[in-house]
Amino acid sequence: MFLLEISYLIGSISFIVGLKMLSSPDKARMGNIYAAIGMGIAILATIVFHEKDGQSIGNIPWIIGGMAIGTVIGWLMAMKVKMTAMPQMVSFFNGMGGACAAIISLVEFNSSHGAGSHDMGFLLIVFLGLAIGSVSFSGSIIAYGKLDGWINDIRGSWMKIVNLAFMAVVLGMIAAEVFAPGILGPNAIWMLLVVSLLYGVTFVMPIGGADMPVVISLLNSFTGMAAAFGGFLYGNAVMLTGGILVGSAGTILTVLMCKAMNRSLLNVIIGSFGGGGAAVGGGADGEQVAKEISVTDAAILCAYANKVCIVPGYGLAVAQAQHVCHEFEKSLEGRGIDVTFAIHPVAGRMPGHMNVLLAEADVPYPKLVEMDDANPQLPNTDVIIIVGANDVVNPAAEDDPSSPIYGMPVIKAWEAKNVIVMKRSMNPGYAGIQNQLFFHTRTKMLFGDAKESLQNLVSELKNL
Ligand code: NDP
Repeated sequence: MFLLEISYLIGSISFIVGLKMLSSPDKARMGNIYAAIGMGIAILATIVFHEKDGQSIGNIPWIIGGMAIGTVIGWLMAMKVKMTAMPQMVSFFNGMGGACAAIISLVEFNSSHGAGSHDMGFLLIVFLGLAIGSVSFSGSIIAYGKLDGWINDIRGSWMKIVNLAFMAVVLGMIAAEVFAPGILGPNAIWMLLVVSLLYGVTFVMPIGGADMPVVISLLNSFTGMAAAFGGFLYGNAVMLTGGILVGSAGTILTVLMCKAMNRSLLNVIIGSFGGGGAAVGGGADGEQVAKEISVTDAAILCAYANKVCIVPGYGLAVAQAQHVCHEFEKSLEGRGIDVTFAIHPVAGRMPGHMNVLLAEADVPYPKLVEMDDANPQLPNTDVIIIVGANDVVNPAAEDDPSSPIYGMPVIKAWEAKNVIVMKRSMNPGYAGIQNQLFFHTRTKMLFGDAKESLQNLVSELKNL
């Protein structure tokens, strides 16, 4: 038992250290490995040292078989996933965590012979773990489907009523079974499972597909809570610590994402922001004409600059242009030009998306300047190059109170001396709104896929 407790302590410490390291891009990979080792120690110690009533754990071939299947599936998915599909994968894995938490509650409840024989505390933990885990599972799978494009939003004010009704039924069932165990009959736990699964579906269904990263983060915190309930059930310190860490990290991340988008969580859950693809707002944009620039002229503009700032956005991920972007940066630096990357906290489709992409391409971390530090430097910047970003450089956030992104902090690209925007068309980004920056007197559009445009720029720079 002593060895088990020590192993759990080591596991818990490695989760905390790993999580801390995840907050810095250059240490994140190592942090992930620490946390994985901690989890490995906790699982191994449970198998080897755990005892109940003098009996060791048993069912070893089943446990090893399940772990082997899970490891192979997880490994293959992680190796094959494209950077643009990371939110889907996170959602899928999160759903599996929720399912595990729900199954733990089911197994514990059934192996302890039904509701009649338990105290209120036990029942509350079991039912909450089951409900939250199930909502997290079905909600995450719907989120996965939406992000992957095979499930569409179902909107309408009636969905809010359906959601409230499901929530009331779930809470009512839990309260009834906790205060009057057995009152809903022998199948109460199965009924709660079904209603919670349905609630997870209806909870996520109306949320705009593009709001999914925030929802996934919220569901992630649900999974953490459900796992923490499992930790309570088993009196298992490492499960409790892991659950609390995931629950609180998910909650903090959800709040930070909403803050960076200048929206409330309620607005994300019941609003319809980002659902459509067509441009809305933007005034008399039809009469405005954006100026284009050729690759050669763009290369000349950059080659004679002293200071260049690159603003990456979601399009960099779509084009998988991170490696050629680094090449472009190096070829400018080879000419003695000072190059930095301005990073917006919600550029891309998940927190830290740009940091991860650029780290993958070995862009030195000190080159990445956060938005608040980058903005004051922009008036002294000769050329700002926007690579597949849109909303995060939209001036409407500052000067159009009617805009859905009004108040969101943005990178003030228009303050630089010259602005080059790389994108494929005049289509809007995630928020579905037009961007007046594209019509600004200092702005020139370099249309095309970001990877191709950057490759062409690198070749042109070689000829200059
Ligand atoms: P946007 O979605 O605003 O814009 C991306 C732009 O990339 C589009 O205008 C698109 O234009 C262009 N693009 C797409 N593919 C390519 C390509 N292959 N080559 C070149 N350009 C391409 O992205 P931003 O990064 O500016 O902003 C992120 C948005 O996502 C914000 O509104 C944020 O609130 C939201 N969000 C972010 C989250 C996060 O955690 N990071 C979470 C949830 C939401 P075109 O089609 O014409 O090429």
